[in-house]
Amino acid sequence: MTQPDMPRPPKLRDDCFALPAGVDWTPVDEALALLNAAIDCVVGVEQVSHANVVGRILAQPVTARRSNPPAPNSAVDGYGFAHEATGEGDQLLPLTDGRAAAGAAYGGSVPQGSAIRILTGAILPEGVDTVVLEEDCNVTATHVAFRGPLRPRANTRKAGEDVVKGAEVFAKGHMLRAQDAGLLAALGVDEVQVFKPLRVGVLSTGDELVTPDIEAPADRTYDANRPMLLQVAKAWGCEAVDLGHIRDDRDALAAGLDDAAQRCDIILTSGGASAGDEDHVSALLREQGNLQAWRIALKPGRPLALAMWQGVPVLGLPGNPVAAFVCAVMFARPACLKLAGAAWQDPQGFLVPAAFEKRKKPGRREYLRARMGPSGVEVFASEGSGRISGLSWSEGLVELPDGEAVIAQGDLVRYIPYRSFGL
Ligand code: AMP
Ligand code: MG
Repeated sequence: MTQPDMPRPPKLRDDCFALPAGVDWTPVDEALALLNAAIDCVVGVEQVSHANVVGRILAQPVTARRSNPPAPNSAVDGYGFAHEATGEGDQLLPLTDGRAAAGAAYGGSVPQGSAIRILTGAILPEGVDTVVLEEDCNVTATHVAFRGPLRPRANTRKAGEDVVKGAEVFAKGHMLRAQDAGLLAALGVDEVQVFKPLRVGVLSTGDELVTPDIEAPADRTYDANRPMLLQVAKAWGCEAVDLGHIRDDRDALAAGLDDAAQRCDIILTSGGASAGDEDHVSALLREQGNLQAWRIALKPGRPLALAMWQGVPVLGLPGNPVAAFVCAVMFARPACLKLAGAAWQDPQGFLVPAAFEKRKKPGRREYLRARMGPSGVEVFASEGSGRISGLSWSEGLVELPDGEAVIAQGDLVRYIPYRSFGL
């Protein structure tokens, strides 16, 4: 259900990616802070059913419409009674006729000193505050016998012990998951306000690129970035818009960007972003898109091109697929999520023992393709950033600090599983 009268947030300013004067190589953390400061949510709002919320981002906090559980109830199948009438040692209580079951409450009141058959989830009848497990009882048609003492309120659940009515259960900006759909339903929340999906356009540049449906000569390169980045955008809950492949031709590129700006909220390009002869993306964006080439101190990575094309942010990723992937997860992800209405996201990393050795020079933060092995985190045999098979071999990235580092086997290093990047 869309709400056409809901206003969309304003577009970003054309100079939003400008760096402070004098900035040369920007450390990763600073670049991320600058990116966070430059962007804001650009999407509108719609209402969706609790059943369709997975991957959606809340546009409003959600509060519980009722408590969970709404009333005190039994946590087990057994016999309920007033605790006050019981004590230590053998207990023998007369049974009240009838029973209390989930969805079929016992309407009457259980007399002090009597017990009633009660099933899991049944609301505690008047006169019942404690339940004894049926496995701990001997029962006849008229009586139940068990051994005391029982804790007061044993085997019962208090009203609101999980969530109290009116409590905020999700903040604005939270991306909802499958288990959240369950909680929404449990709290009687039928519909929620979410942001419309961010439309992420993906385009590849380079005369050498072809699609894998043709038999290509050796001087052609199969376009690996576009299918990868389209799927990445989908995994982030965005609407992926395939903008195709554009040759290294300035007019074609300008036309492609014009078209993209009409139907996307952000444009991810790959290739052509350096300062080489064929780097038309950066040349064009410099002239017409207020290009800011961020020289970020990270490896693998080339300058990250940030620009605005007709009010739409353009993020120019490196052509090299490994560098494109690392820059996408490190920079495009938090940018897309924030544009899409989520809170800024730093990937969750874990300190784990290294199952490798490495010496690194100061100056650039390094990301190694990695995965957990029996004795710690292992890294891909080659750091060559053309080795795209290493992306598939790996299950995450090891992040080595900006400064110099000497890593020995068993040293703790920061490992970021791809799941932390939503992949
Ligand atoms: P560029 O930044 O355009 O100079 O590209 C750097 C390297 O990445 C070159 O070897 C390109 O052929 C390669 N490359 C660029 N785009 C892609 C792509 N979409 N898929 C695979 N390789 C690419
Ligand atoms: Mg190129």
